[in-house]
Amino acid sequence: MGCRRRAPAHELVRVVRRRDGALVTGTALPGRGAWLCRGSASCLERAVRRDAFARALRAPVAPEALDGLRRELGLAPDVRGWMDTPVP
Ligand SMILES: [Zn+2]
Repeated sequence: MGCRRRAPAHELVRVVRRRDGALVTGTALPGRGAWLCRGSASCLERAVRRDAFARALRAPVAPEALDGLRRELGLAPDVRGWMDTPVP
């Protein structure tokens, strides 16, 4: 969705909007889905800039929901920093 490239399903991650407005990933969830390249921060951010989530999901998407999605995908800078920290 972010970069509009065609890719096999296993290279994509499906994002759906929960009733409470949160964005979560999962192929088995009901409702409209938005597809992103798995592990691609640029694909995600491109979709965010174009407001593609709101259009694909036909519902408003709050900035907090996008932050939650970044965390869930492991694409938030703070999360990545945390993951890079060696476990003592
Ligand atoms: Zn993409």
